[in-house]
Amino acid sequence: MSISLQSCPCQINPPLTSTSSVLAYQDCCQPYHEGVVDSHVSHADTVRVDSAERLMRSRYSAFVLVIPEYIVKTTLPAQQSLLDVQAIEAWAKETKWAGLEVVKHTPKLGKRHAQVEFKASFNSADGLQAHHELSTFVTVKDKAGNEKRWYFLDPTVSISVTQKQPCICGSGEKFKRCCGVYLP
Ligand SMILES: [Zn+2]
Ligand SMILES: [Zn+2]
Repeated sequence: MSISLQSCPCQINPPLTSTSSVLAYQDCCQPYHEGVVDSHVSHADTVRVDSAERLMRSRYSAFVLVIPEYIVKTTLPAQQSLLDVQAIEAWAKETKWAGLEVVKHTPKLGKRHAQVEFKASFNSADGLQAHHELSTFVTVKDKAGNEKRWYFLDPTVSISVTQKQPCICGSGEKFKRCCGVYLP
């Protein structure tokens, strides 16, 4: 990707209350997007998001810049194959994104979850509107059982798992005690 942007999409916030300088795309979400999407970047060099808020911001930027692959790859692995990539791409393109406001970040919920409440603004025929959402994220260990990665837990993806089965995130706990708490 060779996108050069003065300000990262996740830094543009309609009620701009902060006077701190706005980060350029290359200093903000670009390294995360490239690390996940570009196959020539070796796995070891991948920049990892260190918090749920960071991941949420980079996913918002990926929607604005229409990088559906990033949206898919940052969703819980067990849910990825169930995502409609074309629908994600179409929705990202159609939406006239107008800024992101992180309302609240709860960095630690139980052992491995976190939540981010945010408002993603967009322009419509009725003027400026916002998706106001509470998203849940989960940390998952890699195959070697070491490093952890944050993933988005998509509440719109239905997975057939009973409450007593092992959780879809691979934590080894029962679904109902783990991600099931946050999924409908
Ligand atoms: Zn950003
Ligand atoms: Zn889980």
